[in-house]
Amino acid sequence: MTTLTNPFEIARETLRLLATRRIPPTPDNYLTLYHEISGTHPSKDAFPEKQLRTLAAALPKNTPEQLRLARQLEEAVKAGNWDNFREHLAQFVSALAEAQKLAWSELITNLIRQWDAKHVGLTAARKRESLDHVLSGAGANPETLFNRLQGLMRSWGQGKESETQTSPETQSSATLAETLSATTVSNPTQAEDLLPELRELFAFTLETAIATQLIESPQLSNDAKLLAADIRGASKLEQMQDFLTRLKRFAFKLELLAEDQAELRRSLLSLLRLLVENITELVVDDRWLHGQIDVVRDIIEKPLSQRTVDDAERRLKEVLYKQSQLKASLFEARDAIKQMLAGFVDHLADFADATSEFHDKLEGCAEKISAANDISELGNVLGEVMRETRTIQLNAQKSRDELRSTQEKVKKSEARIHELEMELETTSDLVRHDQLTGVLNRRGLEDMFNKEVARALRHDTLLCVGLLDIDNFKKLNDSLGHDVGDQALIHLANVCRETLRPQDTVARFGGEEFIILLPETPLADASVALTRLQRELTKKFFLNDNEKVLITFSAGVTQMLPEDTQASVIKRADEAMYKAKQTGKNRVVTAQ
Ligand code: GH3
Ligand code: MG
Ligand code: MG
Repeated sequence: MTTLTNPFEIARETLRLLATRRIPPTPDNYLTLYHEISGTHPSKDAFPEKQLRTLAAALPKNTPEQLRLARQLEEAVKAGNWDNFREHLAQFVSALAEAQKLAWSELITNLIRQWDAKHVGLTAARKRESLDHVLSGAGANPETLFNRLQGLMRSWGQGKESETQTSPETQSSATLAETLSATTVSNPTQAEDLLPELRELFAFTLETAIATQLIESPQLSNDAKLLAADIRGASKLEQMQDFLTRLKRFAFKLELLAEDQAELRRSLLSLLRLLVENITELVVDDRWLHGQIDVVRDIIEKPLSQRTVDDAERRLKEVLYKQSQLKASLFEARDAIKQMLAGFVDHLADFADATSEFHDKLEGCAEKISAANDISELGNVLGEVMRETRTIQLNAQKSRDELRSTQEKVKKSEARIHELEMELETTSDLVRHDQLTGVLNRRGLEDMFNKEVARALRHDTLLCVGLLDIDNFKKLNDSLGHDVGDQALIHLANVCRETLRPQDTVARFGGEEFIILLPETPLADASVALTRLQRELTKKFFLNDNEKVLITFSAGVTQMLPEDTQASVIKRADEAMYKAKQTGKNRVVTAQ
């Protein structure tokens, strides 16, 4: 038989052979037969996407490294890039082996050394007890075990080895008491006076500062309270010694807890990163959403603080809000189109039914006409033809009317979709960030202002407000174009964010005016901060087509007073800014 070369013919022949040989038509069988007929060989290098994807999905994701690996592998599979896949996997495995090999031998050497060393106040039995605790607490996770063992070595290392005398905070219970009595000898009245106070301070710290931080570990919180009660009642040396021993054990448990919490935080952060990445994939073609998500991602890459978490939360809420808006209008549009299609198909069917019936009837009439013998029979047939024609005419008219009404409906839903889009535009001012520059908008500023005022009152600190307005911005717009003006605004907002402290707030107040909130700042320092910002702007100049464009601004700055409202303090800053404009621009004026 001649070898076929045309793919269509090969495919047809494959199907024919499957049928004649009665081979089940599975993809594999099809492939084998196809290659047999075409005389080719199945490619051994095909990228096994499905299998690799399953492999990547099945990998553990308990640590940030594992998570990163899984993500890298998934990306390599997505890109169909075998080299990347192999490289990531190989790197991970060798790094793992390297890290473990080196660190473990060091750790074990240290463990043996510390085990043999004598630490004051740390008996062999206690060492064994704490080691048991670490071994049983780490479960089957070698990384946790490694970290905890390291922690244990650190805590043993801090206990003074008996041959060497070290700093007071590492002394055992007995020597602490000795130190206290020694101080009594050298300065009797002061030390004796201090002891009850010190005890009370200890108890207070345990009860108020520590126990309240341990809400999620009731057992430890309880231990802290018991220790507080003990130190309050301790008057004898033995009681003190006992207290110190138990305090050490308590501190050890706290250390373990801190490690657990750090690990939990790490996992939560990677979870958040994963979520953020998934959202990015869901919102493929909305630039604004992408921008917001990038900001969230930046925020969670930096060290966490209440402020950064608040900021991330606000941004995510905005993303969710905008997404829900888009979804609602999309659903509506889809429903309208679905209804239209269904209506159209119904019409087609009705019309086809009616016309084919008409056809049949007419054929019947034609037969009757050819079979007719006299004129009266023809009269009857003619009547029938007239009746049927009228019916089909009516049907056609009805269909036309209905089509017209469908058209009306389509127009209406188009209008509704348009309306929704407009609504989306107008409600987007619910969003708290300026879409051009990414800093807070007026609404966002209002919220932040309230927060900062409350914070300043709570901590009894100063809050300053600056208002800056770009100089001769209209000229820049006129000479370089509105788009370049927009880029200049973005540039200014970025320099503000980079130059000011993380706790300062930047908001776009209007066209080319920005408000800056400076918490915990006296007026003089606020003025210095804005002047520094001016200097920065002359260094980080704005580039347009590789040409430097100098942007300057005039600013007014003032301090929030108890009797101020947001409006009154902004008005004062605005007046000061106006003075800066009048006295030559590119300067900062303070309003007392
Ligand atoms: P002055 O130094 O006195 O402040 O002069 P100015 O030209 O900066 O001030 P003016 O208030 O006369 O003009 C402000 C200009 O800012 C007018 C307006 O077209 C422009 N502007 C406002 N918002 C935007 C924006 O979002 N993008 C751009 N490109 N320009 C804007
Ligand atoms: Mg202005
Ligand atoms: Mg201006």
